[in-house]
Amino acid sequence: MSALTWVLDVPSREKLIKAAFEAKEFAYSKYSKFRVGAALLTPDGQIIKGANIENASYGGTICAERTAFVKAVSEGTMSFVALAVVTDVASPLSPCGMCRQVIREFCPQNMPILLVPADYNERVAKGLGDGILETSIAELLPHSFGPEDLELPRQGAD
Ligand SMILES: [Zn+2]
Repeated sequence: MSALTWVLDVPSREKLIKAAFEAKEFAYSKYSKFRVGAALLTPDGQIIKGANIENASYGGTICAERTAFVKAVSEGTMSFVALAVVTDVASPLSPCGMCRQVIREFCPQNMPILLVPADYNERVAKGLGDGILETSIAELLPHSFGPEDLELPRQGAD
């Protein structure tokens, strides 16, 4: 676990991982055949799930992570304490650059981001460890630009 993140209690962690797997089942990934599930945890224990939703235009595609954020924020939820992401690949995969910027918009820099391997359940059942890469947006998007940067004093602007 990264020293940059805070500790998520075990029941919340397990609930969030399970939700990410559930979310993946609804992936609309007919073009890439690459399913992704994401789950966001709020401070009051609510979970918002998202899956990747592809489009015949390709450019209209939205990732699982952004689906979850758009669902949450558009219904008034803007505070999060953890994010879990899972694919069908048996190793932890990382959010794309665009999603990293969206995570940066809404999440604390040190919020836990759990990158869950597809074989998480099998690994745990066999006592092989969970295989999760736990990281944070500070690690995924260093030297980032965020909302507070727009509040900085500027020179040469009227
Ligand atoms: Zn993405």
